[in-house]
Formats: sequence, structure tokens, C-alpha cells
Amino acid sequence: TKYASVGLIIGVTGIVGNSLAEILPLSDTPGGPWKVYGVARRPRPSWNSDHPIEYIQCDVSNPEETLDKFSSLTDVTHVFYVTWASKKTEAENIVANSAMFRNVLRAVIPNCPNLQHICLQTGRKHYLGSFESFGKEEIHRHEPPFHEDLPRLKSPNFYYDLEDILFEEVEKKEGLTWSIHRPATIFGFSPYSLMNLIGSLCVYATICKHEGKPLRFPGSKAVWEGYSDASDADLIAEHQIWASVDQYAKNDAFNCVNGDVFKWKHMWKALGEQFEVECAEFEEGLKLEELMKDKGAVWDEIVKKHDLSPTKLEEVASFWFVDAIFVAEETALDSMNKSKEHGFFGFRNSNYAFVSWIDKMKAAKIKKLEEDEPPTKYA
Ligand code: NDP
Repeated sequence: TKYASVGLIIGVTGIVGNSLAEILPLSDTPGGPWKVYGVARRPRPSWNSDHPIEYIQCDVSNPEETLDKFSSLTDVTHVFYVTWASKKTEAENIVANSAMFRNVLRAVIPNCPNLQHICLQTGRKHYLGSFESFGKEEIHRHEPPFHEDLPRLKSPNFYYDLEDILFEEVEKKEGLTWSIHRPATIFGFSPYSLMNLIGSLCVYATICKHEGKPLRFPGSKAVWEGYSDASDADLIAEHQIWASVDQYAKNDAFNCVNGDVFKWKHMWKALGEQFEVECAEFEEGLKLEELMKDKGAVWDEIVKKHDLSPTKLEEVASFWFVDAIFVAEETALDSMNKSKEHGFFGFRNSNYAFVSWIDKMKAAKIKKLEEDEPPTKYA
């Protein structure tokens, strides 16, 4: 065959899925040439459709549908699991996310004789605890910088269940390897992502600009002043591709951050400059969800005025996520030592990355995306 590897991306329109779909098919990607399948529930959006991949619409929370739609994909060599379901409680997250991951592995492992490796993306909440546990005293969190060998927290977390399912399922095929990738807050592009920090900030800045109001920072002094880090979506894709092909990255878990630190008060200035909005002085106690709660009609106006892709405010922005990140009383940092010690030297300049993802969000929204189905809210 003309392909050296065959990738299956679960969550291909997500914030990392879209980067994988762009990078895997490139001619100089390690392990290539890659043939790529990409899975998501909604019809393929136009901003994803230039990537030379085979798009498969499938709801992996449905076991029969997953078996059926995956039955012909017998040539898959690598799985990239970059999806999740968001439920009200962590107990529900565990049930829903475990089922999805199991459905995928049980459809792929017995069906793909050349299957070699499975990449599972989880995240920093491995160390911080679930969203539900945020702000609760009884969890004894580790102190940052976080490294991969820290023991699990004694608190329910769907990431731990996903890891255990991975360990259990890979046993079913000899020689099958795995890697776990733990990014921090992701800087990337996807209007379909459940948690897109930059996308949400772009929407907020656009609304401020439209209303002639200054950009107020909705977060704590600690996040405004402290050192923060982030994970570029393309870098995470490169990290997963590295783990897929490099023998020193097998059967292990790795943090994945840009490798530098920044302060949100500086990023805020950059955000203001990108949208030509003035930045307000720091104020304590603002919540973005609160500030934006009645702005649905304003967004509709903006979409109309600038002929943007037709979207609803709640579909393109996850203000709750911005609040969850910015409310922290201490900023966290992850160590990249282990990845470097195992041979991954990729990095990003977070300041440049921030601006270039803003550019990409702007470019995609300025174009009218006529062929798009209106995105549906699933969370
Ligand atoms: P996104 O929310 O960006 O993307 C999810 C993708 O999966 C979309 O393509 C979505 O498309 C698809 N999808 C969702 N449900 C299903 C389903 N039932 N069947 C098939 N496809 C589905 O994902 P993330 O990259 O954000 O999340 C992956 C992991 O990364 C999660 O564990 C998350 O906690 C973690 N993480 C995320 C961070 C972030 O900043 N976003 C930060 C750190 C960790 P569609 O809706 O059309 O199906």
C-alpha cells in the first residue's frame, strides 16, 4: 500500500482533532505518508473540509453505530482519541466518557490487525481535580509544577477511568502500545470545541468593540499577575504524532505544554490590540458568564452586520470555561522535563501562538460558511 500509517481521529472537528487533521496528511509528518479517518457527530464543517481525510459521521456514545461505522476501517494503525462528553456531575462524566472510549476501543482493537498505538488525550485536571471539585477544600491537590509521576488525587475524575480502560483494553492485542497526553489550557481553533479559551475571548472582545466598552478582565489577581502556561493545539498534535512513532514514548503518560510562561495581563493587552479595544484596569471579582449573560441579541446583530458564519452566542463561546480557568487562586504550571528526557523537544512561543490563533478565528468568522449546518449544542 502507498500509506505507511493509517490514523483514526476521534473528535476530528475538536480543538486538537482539527490540528491533527491538518498535520497528519502533510508529506513531512513523521510516520507518513498517513491515510487519515476523522470521526465526529455533526456534518463536516467547511473550515475542516480542506484537510485530505475521510470524514465519518458517527456518535461514538452509541455502541452499535460505532461497530457498524467502524467495521470497514480494518487498516487503522493508530488511534488519536481527542474527544469527550460534558455532563453535569463528575459521576455522569465518568459513565458517559467511559462508554464512549470503550465503544471505540472495542470496535477498533479486534477489527484492525495492524493496529499499533493508541493516543489518549486527557489534561491537567489529572492533577487539579475535576471541574466539580474546583474550589473545594477537601481535595488535597499537589503543588505545581506538576509532573507525571504524581499519584492520582483521591477524588472521582473521568480521566482516571479513561486511563484504566486504556490499560485494560490494550492487553487484548499483543504488542499494542499507548500514550497519554495531558495538555493544560489549549490555544487552538475550533468553533465546535466545548472549551475554546481563545475563541471565547475573541467573541467577548468583539462584543466589547461593538458596544464601545473596554475589555475588563474576568478573573483573579493571581491569574492576572501570576505565571501561566498553555498548550498549543498544533504542538499537542505533534506530541501525539511523536508518541505514535517514537519507541521512547511508548506506554507512558506525558504532560504537553508550550514550554514557556506568560502573564495574562500581557496577553490581555495583546487581545485588546487585536480587536482594537481599550483594556480596563484590573477589577476583582468579575465573571465573564455574568458579563455576557444578556448578549445573545448583540451577537446576532454582530453576525448580521459583519456577515459572519451564522451562529448563536452559546454555540461559539464557552464563557463558563473562561471563568473556570481565570478564577484560580493560584496559577498552575506543568513540567515538560519528562517529554524532553524522552526526546520530544517541540515548543511554542505562547505570545505568538495567542495572536496567530486569534488571526485564524477572525479569518474563519469573516468568511460566510454557507454550507455549514447550524452547530447544535450538545453539552
Ligand atoms: P473538543 O470539545 O474540542 O472536541 C470534541 C470533538 O469530538 C469534536 O469534533 C466533536 O464533534 C466530537 N465529538 C463529541 N462527542 C462525540 C461523540 N459522541 N461521537 C463522535 N464525536 C464526538 O475536545 P477537546 O480536545 O477539548 O477535549 C479532548 C480532551 O482534552 C478532553 O478530555 C478535555 O477535557 C481535554 N482538555 C481540553 C482542553 C481545552 O482547552 N479544550 C484543555 C486540557 C484538556 P461533534 O460535536 O460534531 O460530535
